[in-house]
Amino acid sequence: MGIMVSVVVDYLRHIETDCVVNNVGELADYIPELAAVDPDRFAVSVAVHDGHVYSIGDSSLEFTIQSISKALTYALALSRRGVETVDAHIGVEPSGEAFNEISVDARTRNPKNPMINAGAITAAALLLDAGHDGDTDTGDVDEAFTRLLDFYSGCAGRRLSMDEAVYRSETASGSRNRAIAYMLESYGVMPADPEDAVDLYFRQCSVRVTTDDLAVIGSTLANGGVNPRTGRRMLDQVVVRRVLSVMTTCGMYDGAGDWVTSVGLPAKSGVGGGILAVLPGQLGIGVYSPRLDEHGNSVRGVRACRHLSADLGLHMFNVA
Ligand code: GLN
Repeated sequence: MGIMVSVVVDYLRHIETDCVVNNVGELADYIPELAAVDPDRFAVSVAVHDGHVYSIGDSSLEFTIQSISKALTYALALSRRGVETVDAHIGVEPSGEAFNEISVDARTRNPKNPMINAGAITAAALLLDAGHDGDTDTGDVDEAFTRLLDFYSGCAGRRLSMDEAVYRSETASGSRNRAIAYMLESYGVMPADPEDAVDLYFRQCSVRVTTDDLAVIGSTLANGGVNPRTGRRMLDQVVVRRVLSVMTTCGMYDGAGDWVTSVGLPAKSGVGGGILAVLPGQLGIGVYSPRLDEHGNSVRGVRACRHLSADLGLHMFNVA
């Protein structure tokens, strides 16, 4: 191990020591698979601008990406459908409500933003909307998911896969998400079949990642859309700027204000226990620990990010 690597890893171990004594929070338990994980797992990975990943803890342990997928699917929808079309369907205003709140903008009846379930299901629907702009989409869920998984994999720099058991469970217990999709349909703002839209959404939530993957995905966003490990451009800079903006204001749900104030990085959490954070131009961060706070954000994950931000001066509004 080089001297630089060992200094960074030692520092990350120090964060681990501080975080793992914290046993506050509850596992997500709306499906059995999420409640069955080891609550004490913990990992931090940091990808720097050249793509090197520093990590500690269970950084090669796979868990489901859950709502972190919302940022990626929004990015893919913006890329494929264009900003104008996506904006006609999904707002960019923080809702201040829980992620699964059944709510829409009072005037447009569109979902308030793509980071709550209503907006995320609509973003998935936009990937299913067939036959636009002369492209080859057929509206088929399998096809759309293949494209989606190719995109997620390209951002992570390795082939990702879906957890079939989690997907089956999400599908079996998805009444609330179906209700959201049908409510949007009843308002005339659901751009695809509601069942297909939630199906694609459940599949994307069930994609398995590690914190190393999240860090590389974060560094792809930090790097203006080019994966620094593969050199492959995954997104336009304009799309990246939009996604990072919405992550900043809405990524941590009703915990977003506290997060931006104390950590100051665009981020997205998932009920699987992962958090993806980005320091534009510099770093991608992935953290994992499955116990959640009342907003559905990883307790130790938030704590680790606060640490990183304070110790390394990462808050995006720091003035040198
Ligand atoms: N599959 C979960 C849901 O839709 C994801 C929620 C989350 O990670 N916040 O309820």
